[in-house]
Amino acid sequence: MSDKCVFLDRDGVINKDYVDYVYSLDRLEILSGVAESLLKLKESGYLVIVITNQSGIAQGIYTRDEMHICHKAIQERCNHTIDAFYYAPWHPSVTESLTRKPGSLMLEKAIARFNVDVSQSWMVGDKDRDLVPAKKLDLKTIQVDHNDSSNADYKSENLVGAVKRILNQ
Ligand SMILES: [Mg+2]
Repeated sequence: MSDKCVFLDRDGVINKDYVDYVYSLDRLEILSGVAESLLKLKESGYLVIVITNQSGIAQGIYTRDEMHICHKAIQERCNHTIDAFYYAPWHPSVTESLTRKPGSLMLEKAIARFNVDVSQSWMVGDKDRDLVPAKKLDLKTIQVDHNDSSNADYKSENLVGAVKRILNQ
């Protein structure tokens, strides 16, 4: 049996984004209503999987360990509702990668590993590069940042609104 899933970008969707990256707990600010929204998804039977580019690792700005500390804190603050984190540590200035979004390899791996039913599943992201690989794989898409133009199926103010959209379909 396959499962429905909501894939989430991390920075700008779960936590506040900064142009110079989020890699320490003093910068890790979970956005309003996110923890409650993730609980609602779990209660409705969705897998919740984070798909995130973390190019600061390849660029030497922070380490994998620092990222994992942040992911552990996100889990704690979000009631352990996240089933998995997939991250791409690469950056084109260091090495090209099919994993890094807009490449679709992270999503493809997660879909295979968790036996995700794509027809019932979604991707929520703030940037066009989150939504391009999702569309390629026929996920429904919601964009939560109106400043970055995209061809998302829906737009929403934030993850709270996106989850309402998903659960009201
Ligand atoms: Mg983002």
